[in-house]
Amino acid sequence: IETIRPPLRQFSDFPRFFDEVAPQLRGKTVLMYCTGGIRCERASSLLKQKLGDQVEGVFQLQGGIEKYLLTYPDGGHWRGLNFAFDKRTAVAPAEGAADRVPLSRCCLCGEPWDTYLGKRKCVACDSPVLVCLGCCGTRRDKAPGADLRCPLCVEEGRTTKERSMHHEVTLKAQTTTALLRAQMAAAAAAGRKAAQAGGAPAAADGSDSD
Ligand SMILES: [Zn+2]
Ligand SMILES: [Zn+2]
Repeated sequence: IETIRPPLRQFSDFPRFFDEVAPQLRGKTVLMYCTGGIRCERASSLLKQKLGDQVEGVFQLQGGIEKYLLTYPDGGHWRGLNFAFDKRTAVAPAEGAADRVPLSRCCLCGEPWDTYLGKRKCVACDSPVLVCLGCCGTRRDKAPGADLRCPLCVEEGRTTKERSMHHEVTLKAQTTTALLRAQMAAAAAAGRKAAQAGGAPAAADGSDSD
């Protein structure tokens, strides 16, 4: 059995990843699983659409890991915690949650740790990162430029934010708007001054309020 862990931060990156991995899947039977089964629905339909009968078969875990853990309260073949996209952040099988051994590590000290504390985010990609109780609040954690990075960014050697085009464009638009506003405000102020100097009523008042 070969396993592939998609190196993805968001599911919208999946089609690009799929094109890279497709040659590896030809002639194979593919089994996939995700948190709630929905991403597998989409991924399997993409796989069938793109590879068709070039794969032996496509299987998915119906209802995802969530349903699996409800079906097998002792966790079955599952190890560790399941990341959840809500307040729970991570879900353990109902039985044996207390004596579990963390499979993940604190991003600062590297000690085994699997509880999200203090909403820490990766400095390079904004994904949630694990910081252990011992490291939380220390200088390494709090210092500006603290090296809080997710395992994927560490693996890829990503240290700073590579802004997406969308982000870049939004940022530019915001800057331009701010500049325009400043210019308009300055022009309006100058206009008021000129009007006052000329003794005429300040008609343009309010032009700088938005
Ligand atoms: Zn730590
Ligand atoms: Zn990251």
